Amino acid sequence: MDFEGTGVTQSVASGTDAPQAGATRPRTLDAFGRHINYLRVSLTDKCNLRCVYCMPEHMVFRPGDELLSGDEFIRVLQAASMLGFDKYRLTGGEPTVHPGLVDIVAALRALPGTREIAMTTNGLRLARLAQPLKAAGMDRVNISIDTLDAERYHRITRWGKVEDVLAGIAAAEAAGLTPIKLNAVVLRGYNEDDVAPLAALTLARPWHFRFIEVMPFGDVADFQQASIVTTAEMMARIQAALGALAPVNDGKLDGEARMYRLPNAQGQVGFISPVSAPFCASCNRVRLTADGTLRLCLLKDGEIDLKTPLRRGARAEDLAELIRAGIWRKPWGHDLKDGVIPLNRVMSEIGG
Ligand code: SAM
Ligand code: SF4
Repeated sequence: MDFEGTGVTQSVASGTDAPQAGATRPRTLDAFGRHINYLRVSLTDKCNLRCVYCMPEHMVFRPGDELLSGDEFIRVLQAASMLGFDKYRLTGGEPTVHPGLVDIVAALRALPGTREIAMTTNGLRLARLAQPLKAAGMDRVNISIDTLDAERYHRITRWGKVEDVLAGIAAAEAAGLTPIKLNAVVLRGYNEDDVAPLAALTLARPWHFRFIEVMPFGDVADFQQASIVTTAEMMARIQAALGALAPVNDGKLDGEARMYRLPNAQGQVGFISPVSAPFCASCNRVRLTADGTLRLCLLKDGEIDLKTPLRRGARAEDLAELIRAGIWRKPWGHDLKDGVIPLNRVMSEIGG
């Protein structure tokens, strides 16, 4: 079968190729020939912040028994490893509020074929956790920081103190959770003036700063849609203040970000543009939600229930079969440009 536009030919009906000669790992493909090897795991829907673009102020979280236990997470991760997954990202909610975080990292590190373990965090608890996480086998972290201004940070996150994030960044760097990648969601009326000061952090430090276009989700979608600042506007603001952004790596995507460098900068500035420039063609990921569903596309509602079979005693092999079949049904991409938005969850339940 030939998959138009992907340059990939696949002859198997199942989606998982046997290891090729000389290779020891299976490869799981979707129906469009994309190699899916990256699992993003939302460890919990809970968070110690209430960012305005992510969840309502009075967010109601799921009861604890609806969420996977540490052992259940590990069984799904074993299944993913059997399918050739080799890259994992822990996220949330806020992954650092999960009491089993360090043990889950150690379990991931012990799985066959694990190549990279990363985490997306608001950074508030990293001052205490960076060293234990590194010791357990975590490779690196992405830390969210939407502004350097204390008052604005508090307004965006509703609860947070920006100095705690800065301490977390320092701790992550000292622990060797590098390269340090920082993320900001840019929101009209909140922090569009902060893009240049944030990008300037890459001048003296070898950090990657990535700006994200806000995405519409669930019942905060109207607010998010009214607040969007496009990548084009962010780039114009940064270039006006700091000089030309030169493309890195011939302008090719690094994951979901297009990366640039400011004149004489040590680090890099990137843009994640799911709304204005979707990156579905190179998608290599699926997501596991904290309540045990496999979400096939960040921005589409289709999900596969893994929790019910888990609680009926499914083994890792059985889960691997369900995940493989689910990946085969992964949609080509999202339809944000046609105004179709995901409605069944807010971002904190999926993990970004
Ligand atoms: N609590 C962690 C954090 O904030 O980094 C991890 C979970 S958070 C849901 C993951 C990422 O999604 C963060 O970088 C956050 O800024 C981003 N995010 C949350 N809501 C978003 C939205 N509506 N559009 C785009 N990005 C969003
Ligand atoms: Fe919490 Fe992260 Fe959502 Fe902010 S973006 S409320 S830190 S999960």
